[in-house]
Amino acid sequence: MYTPAGFTPRHVMPEVLGAVTHAFAYRGGKILVGGSEDAPAIPSFAALAAAGVAGTPHFLGNLGDAACIALALPDDAPEPAGMRYAGLRSLFLRIPDPLLALAGRAFQVVEWDRTHRYCGRCGTPTRGKADERAKECPACGLVAYPRVSPAMMTLVTRGRELLLARSHRFVNGIYSALAGFVEPGETIEDCVRREVREEVGVEVEGITYFASQSWAFPHSLMIAYTAVYAGGDIRLEDAEIADARWFALDALPPLPPNVSIARRLIDATVARLRG
Ligand SMILES: [Zn+2]
Repeated sequence: MYTPAGFTPRHVMPEVLGAVTHAFAYRGGKILVGGSEDAPAIPSFAALAAAGVAGTPHFLGNLGDAACIALALPDDAPEPAGMRYAGLRSLFLRIPDPLLALAGRAFQVVEWDRTHRYCGRCGTPTRGKADERAKECPACGLVAYPRVSPAMMTLVTRGRELLLARSHRFVNGIYSALAGFVEPGETIEDCVRREVREEVGVEVEGITYFASQSWAFPHSLMIAYTAVYAGGDIRLEDAEIADARWFALDALPPLPPNVSIARRLIDATVARLRG
């Protein structure tokens, strides 16, 4: 997930919406879609209003001429005829990429709305801030912004081998690059060295940026790196890791799906090593 070409972010709802709108309406963690099971469609703001679906709107900005609106629906919001609530993951490869990216953006804004209704310091109900996407406490002034959690991913190479690990959470025997959340006080590079050391007992050098990806489950910014093996033998001490091994390029295990940054990182590194 990323910022689609032609998208201009805004946070103030325009007084007049154009003819074309995209409404990303979430009830709990699920988004309201029309269309069929195989070809879901993001409804327009007018279609939701006509169906009696109402919630707290957050203006996201414009995709070309289309106004994009996130809607936080109450838990008892109705399911209009011809529409259904779907998991965001079920929309991968079924709706156009730009709309999927904006659905992920909308999810993060709506989740922030749902989880910051009261001040974290004094418990007073918060209110929206007019000049930016933020919530402010009218009693003590604490301001809360949408939360983004940086996480790193590292693919370690040793000659023409890749260090890949299988988490207990992974299905179908998939192996992937190592990953973990950044802790307070760390740089990303500190995090890369610590996570690799903690998860598999290996030291790395040559930490090199690859790419980043917004990941709306629930609010990660995944920042991907390659690194070069510098010492140590694989030791599995982290309870989260089921297995980790060095894999030769011609004997790779099942890998993550194509939509993930992990797969792009692995594919690009394999291509470079085969170079
Ligand atoms: Zn407060």
